[in-house]
Amino acid sequence: MRKICVAGNWKMNKDLNEAVSLISELKKTLENQTINADVIICPPAIALETSKTLIEGTAIQLGAQNMHFADSGAYTGELSASMLKSVGCKYVILGHSERRTIFGESNEVINKKVKKALADGVDPIFCIGETLEERESGVMQKVIEEQVRKGLAEVTVEELGKVIVAYEPVWAIGTGKTASPEQAQEVHAFIRGLLKEMYSEEAAEKVIIQYGGSVKPGNADKLLSQKDIDGALVGGACLDAESFFGIIKAAK
Ligand code: PEP
Repeated sequence: MRKICVAGNWKMNKDLNEAVSLISELKKTLENQTINADVIICPPAIALETSKTLIEGTAIQLGAQNMHFADSGAYTGELSASMLKSVGCKYVILGHSERRTIFGESNEVINKKVKKALADGVDPIFCIGETLEERESGVMQKVIEEQVRKGLAEVTVEELGKVIVAYEPVWAIGTGKTASPEQAQEVHAFIRGLLKEMYSEEAAEKVIIQYGGSVKPGNADKLLSQKDIDGALVGGACLDAESFFGIIKAAK
C-alpha cells in the first residue's frame, strides 16, 4: 500500500515573515488532526532554515524547489544538494515545468540533478507533464515517456525507491483547469507501466506518483481516490493553511 503524499510548492511567494506566519497557521491547523498523508512544504530558499526549525517535532517535512547538479563552485545564485541537506531538506522539486520552460532545463540537465540529489541523500520530486499542444496533437505519451526515460537515466532500482514522480500537465498548472480524475488516472497508469518496463513490477508498484495542476480542496478527494494517484503537488492552494489542509484531509 502506498501512502498518500501531499507536497506544497510555494514557488516565489512569501518573504521570511510571511513564511513564518504560514507555517504557524499550518501547524495550528494540523494540530490534533488525524493525517493520513505525508506532508511536505517547499518554501523559497530564504526560508528553508527557519522553516526547518519551525516544523521540528511535527509531521511536516521540508523540501526545496530547485538545486544545481554540481558539488560547489562558480555557479552564482545556485545551491547544491549538500547545501539543501545542511538546512534540513529531505526533498527537492526537480524538472518542474516552470524550470523546463522559463529556465530552459532539458531532460539531460534534469537527469544530472536527479542523480546528484540521490547521490547526496536528497529525495527528488521529479516533475513531468505535457503541454496542451502536445496532448491535442497526440504526442502526449511520447513526450512523457521521453521525460521519464531521460530524466531517470542511470537511476538504479534502489534509487527509484527514493524518487517521487509528479505528473503535472502543463495546461493545468496555475490555470484553474484540472485534469479530470479519469484523465489523470490514465496517465498515472501509463507512467507506472513505463516504470515497470524500465525497472520491475515490484519497484514500480512502490513509486509514489503525485498529480499536480490546480488541485484544490474541492477536487482533491476524487483525484486522490484514483488507483494510481498517490498524492498531490500543490501550487496556489498551498499558500493558504486552510486550503492546503483541505487537500491533505482528502487522503483516506
Ligand atoms: C505546481 O506549481 O506544481 C502546481 C501544480 O501549481 P497549481 O496547483 O497552482 O496549479
